Amino acid sequence: MRRRNKILRGIPASPGISLKKAILLEGEDGFIMGYDVSDIEKEVQKFDEAVERTREEIITIKNRLEEVTDPYSAKIFDAQLLFLENGDIIHKTKNNIRRSKRNAEFVFDRTVREMASSLDRERSVFFRDKWGEMADVVSRVIRNIKGKTSVMYDGIAEECNIVAHGITASNMALLPRESVKGVVTEMGGRTSHTTIVARAFDIPAVVGVQDLLKYTKSGDLIIVDGTRGIVVINPDESTLKTYEERDRRYRDYTNGLVNLSDIPPTTVDGHTIELSANIELPMEIESALNHGARGIGLFRTEFLFMNGAPTEEEQLEVYKYCAESIGPDSIIIRTVDIGGDKLLQDASFCDANPFLGWRAIRVYLKEKKILKTQLRAILRASAFGNVKIMFPLVSAIEEIKLLKDILRKTQRELKKDGVRYDENIEVGIMVEVPSAAILAEDFAKEVGFFSIGSNDLTQYTLACDRGNPRVANIFKPLHPAVLRLIKNTVDAGHSQDIWVGLCGELGSETIAVPVLLGLGLDELSVCPTSVPEIKSVIRHLTMGECHEIALKALSMSSAVDVEGYLASILKEKSVGMEDVPLHI
Ligand code: PEP
Ligand code: MG
Repeated sequence: MRRRNKILRGIPASPGISLKKAILLEGEDGFIMGYDVSDIEKEVQKFDEAVERTREEIITIKNRLEEVTDPYSAKIFDAQLLFLENGDIIHKTKNNIRRSKRNAEFVFDRTVREMASSLDRERSVFFRDKWGEMADVVSRVIRNIKGKTSVMYDGIAEECNIVAHGITASNMALLPRESVKGVVTEMGGRTSHTTIVARAFDIPAVVGVQDLLKYTKSGDLIIVDGTRGIVVINPDESTLKTYEERDRRYRDYTNGLVNLSDIPPTTVDGHTIELSANIELPMEIESALNHGARGIGLFRTEFLFMNGAPTEEEQLEVYKYCAESIGPDSIIIRTVDIGGDKLLQDASFCDANPFLGWRAIRVYLKEKKILKTQLRAILRASAFGNVKIMFPLVSAIEEIKLLKDILRKTQRELKKDGVRYDENIEVGIMVEVPSAAILAEDFAKEVGFFSIGSNDLTQYTLACDRGNPRVANIFKPLHPAVLRLIKNTVDAGHSQDIWVGLCGELGSETIAVPVLLGLGLDELSVCPTSVPEIKSVIRHLTMGECHEIALKALSMSSAVDVEGYLASILKEKSVGMEDVPLHI
């Protein structure tokens, strides 16, 4: 008998609600049988042909994505192609087939697993997410060895919610947007590309749902609540009713918000704040523009470095495209934040304590070529739009002085070569390490702007790994200690006449808006789909009350108290979606 109203929780990956029948995507994660083969060379040839067919499939996927978005975002699939070109894996597999005389899919699966376990992938969230993408190529190769048709999704005609163990960015990009209304996976995290693609396509998604496949069958009615990270399988009458009502209100609410696109983020008493968007892939610019963002407040450039360091020309092409697409508004390009949870493939970058170790500017102040190449590309792109440069993870004044020296040297070289760039390009830093927030006045004398990285500032202030679910209850960006550091940063910036923004996830939280405005931030850079909602909250507030709210929050000693206080304020003002209570 089917279990009614089974409720599972996961990570809210892309907002919205979808009530549809489930279609289960079968992976190749099940048991792969090993058996002896007599014609070994035929088995090796079967493997070679499967690798070739897989390569062709991935190129098709890449081309399809390029057709619907831009020519650059599809680069995230280069990692999969590169995996197939990994001579080591291919050679080892062939040798192992010849040595063991066993079937190709079994040997390939074993070989990959052995190689993977030798990589210290558990240490890094980013690497774990990327491993999901590698697993996709492996599954494709195995399917092709077995002569099975690969999932291309052309067959999905009716409206549905996709349920899968893992669905990679490549498969996500292929989903027919007319019929796929929601996505739920057992794998995946906040930083995975699957999540980013889901958000860019505006498909509600919940990822990281344990035991999902244990409880779901194709044809089950499921509710995907991407806003709260809830999945309900075969909902009972009352849950279904509640969710139908929530869905209706959510649609009314978001439809209402769309009308805000052309309206400025101005408070009731006439104070306007810059509201821009964070992007990780160029294809998100479209979503940022559609949701009414003014500019890109943070362009994370890590995707370009997934397969090693890109050339100056490769980077220039992407930055120029982005600068032109968002123009005349500005784009803040952050130099690459390698390390920490955004690890490069090179195993030598592994650290025992990655967040406190070899990360971001610390890497390229030693490996200066990475920095100089990126700076040259950013500077050259600045001739085509309104571009600003931002350095992550600055913790000491010497670092910013050195970075500026290298920048000036790069500018002189370009000038000497007669290459055009914006000579007045604005240079800023992310304030995301407590030392920079505490000494903000000194840093403010060195740069043109600050952008507060509340994700890292919270993790470093509260000694709480931002990616560890075990301490997720301690990770509280509204902790008064974090708020005091934000205040110090804003006040210091203003005392030196520079603007101060915030680009961490805190900016996308509706309850945080009054306190962030009250602390005096000049800019908020948020998730593209959150722009209308944040704008709507801003338009319900006055600066006078925001200052009072900030003062009160700063006087508190507990994050829980601050959260409760701020939630009560939004409730009192009836801002945000008028919600139907959930008793599940
Ligand atoms: C932050 O730390 O708040 C931030 C915006 O940067 P990232 O999340 O990329 O580390
Ligand atoms: Mg950061």
